[in-house]
Amino acid sequence: MTLRTCIFCFAENACEVRFDKKARPYVVCQVCHTRCFLRCVEAIRGLAICPTLVAAAIQRRREEPQYKSWFDGEIVRTISFVNDNALTPPVRTEQLGLSSQKTAIPFSFDSDFRAG
Ligand SMILES: [Zn+2]
Repeated sequence: MTLRTCIFCFAENACEVRFDKKARPYVVCQVCHTRCFLRCVEAIRGLAICPTLVAAAIQRRREEPQYKSWFDGEIVRTISFVNDNALTPPVRTEQLGLSSQKTAIPFSFDSDFRAG
């Protein structure tokens, strides 16, 4: 299926719907390498709508400083939660030079962010 905006890392043209050996659908991102299996038809609703909502949110983030603050804060809080609770954190803040900057996000939305 057509590549779409990744609902996990927000990279454009990065996600593709594939089917495993048993023809079960899953999404894979070429940028963040997330694989997400779609176990019920309800999960496909998000796949259909979320890329458009993410694009609108990123545009709003560019235009509204207050929204940008909330948007970035939600990401930082979620990264901190995962890092504080995962045995093997996917984001190693010390490797990113963020050990003393828990309020910084390790990437930018201000430039184009796309696969290929
Ligand atoms: Zn991704």
